[in-house]
Amino acid sequence: MGSAADFPKIDFTSNFQNIINNALSSTPETRQAVDPSTEELLYHVPLSKQADVDKAVSVAKAAFPAWKALSYDERAGYLGRYADAIEANVSGLQELLMKEAGKPVSNAAGELQFAIAHVRETAKLRIEDDLIEDTEERRATVRYLPMGVGVGIIPWNYPVLLGLGKLGPAVLAGNTFIWKPSPFSPYTALKLGEIAAQIFPPGVVQVLSGDESLGPLFTAHPDVAKISFTGSSATGKKVMQACASTLKRLTLELGGNDASIIYDDVDVAQVVQKIGPMAFMHSGQICMDIKRLYVHEKIYDEFLAAFVQVVKSFKVGGGGDPEAFLGPVQNRMQFEKVKDLYSEIGKQKWQVATGGEPVAYDGKKGFFLPPTIIDNPPDDSRIVVEEPFGPIMPVLKWSDEDEVVRRANNTNMGLGASVWSNDIEKAERLARRLEAGSTWVNSHFELSPYVPFGGHKWSGVGMDWGIVGLKGWCNTQASWVRKKF
Ligand code: NAD
Repeated sequence: MGSAADFPKIDFTSNFQNIINNALSSTPETRQAVDPSTEELLYHVPLSKQADVDKAVSVAKAAFPAWKALSYDERAGYLGRYADAIEANVSGLQELLMKEAGKPVSNAAGELQFAIAHVRETAKLRIEDDLIEDTEERRATVRYLPMGVGVGIIPWNYPVLLGLGKLGPAVLAGNTFIWKPSPFSPYTALKLGEIAAQIFPPGVVQVLSGDESLGPLFTAHPDVAKISFTGSSATGKKVMQACASTLKRLTLELGGNDASIIYDDVDVAQVVQKIGPMAFMHSGQICMDIKRLYVHEKIYDEFLAAFVQVVKSFKVGGGGDPEAFLGPVQNRMQFEKVKDLYSEIGKQKWQVATGGEPVAYDGKKGFFLPPTIIDNPPDDSRIVVEEPFGPIMPVLKWSDEDEVVRRANNTNMGLGASVWSNDIEKAERLARRLEAGSTWVNSHFELSPYVPFGGHKWSGVGMDWGIVGLKGWCNTQASWVRKKF
């Protein structure tokens, strides 16, 4: 690890520009995003257009041959130095992340630490050729070759981790990479691009900010080889459609409506302490937050009462509040969407265990909503069927295993699912029946740069991370050698 003094410091309060060919690059027009804790406008950022995209893609394409010619160890060395340089700038990045994403300090710090570790650990991954057949007559080998120019399209909820989580594997595999942040959270990405410009050869890592018209310019571009997209299922479908015109490779990490099934043999007091943060972390704005909680009827009342106490203990506050655990919803669009779901409480006569419809706007700024638990609503209610992506969730009652599996799987989503029991074998048996890209027993949040992450059904196509994710940044090549004529 290099010491902090080895890396030039970045100014985190001004000069937010695109990074193209390792240079800061401005655009004639700019835009501003909003701090969700205060609703104040943040710094100006570039509003990239077709010419900026064309320039970045052509530079990335030109950089590709030399970058892919390096060994894995050489490329890993760049990633290691990048992780060190990010770490040297971590406090500035953390302040910025708190502002742009509305994250309380614990969440912002946690995201950055995991993201830095992710870059370091990803650098240790290697893809070996697979020797399939080697006889006197012939040899068959499977190779994994980088694709070319890769683009990462990133949402606003984990702007650092999700961006770096694509950048690391993309460049390690030998691709060049362009980062397109969400218009709602472009700031950390641009500064991480500025840091990258001090580390990588020109054109290997670039960052472009813009409005909602920017993503489609990348998905349509003929010289982009691969799109790795994280966002909503609705946008994912548009991305897939757009990529079809040039047959781009793509990975889609999409929405979730994760079920968690609690058996009646658990220690309620212990389990609610774990489930609380896993359901409400980042105010419900994580793809893999627990979004439907199925509790066995024998412990339902006791569990709900204890769960309510845990959720009531979460302090809600903005980025500047060091004691806050839950921040605001990240942007006005999402705020209005989630508020619409809260407005169903009265209309549908849902039982509220804690929280409830937000009180009338009293002039207080920030997109804050009360953490809310709905007590056993009907299975076909919006709060069960839809991904809320806000601090509101249902707790549901179950009694029969087959029935709860059917209910948990009765959704187009399939990101994650968990089962909680003291009987691990029983829990694993049930978990195997759940249709999801990740299943957990007695947890819901285990993640590792070495383990692939992705969704089934409308929650995604392909996986990020681990060797599976790294191979997702490669074209597979069958290589035949005939030894005798
Ligand atoms: P979104 O789909 O609105 O936007 C995601 C990104 O796509 C943004 O950068 C946006 O500018 C860009 N975009 C928008 N339209 C585009 C188009 N037509 N072509 C190309 N790019 C386009 O998602 P969001 O609101 O930013 O994020 C919330 C969603 O992301 C939730 O559904 C959540 O579950 C999901 N998510 C999934 C994962 C995962 O790993 N599966 C992780 C985090 C978030």
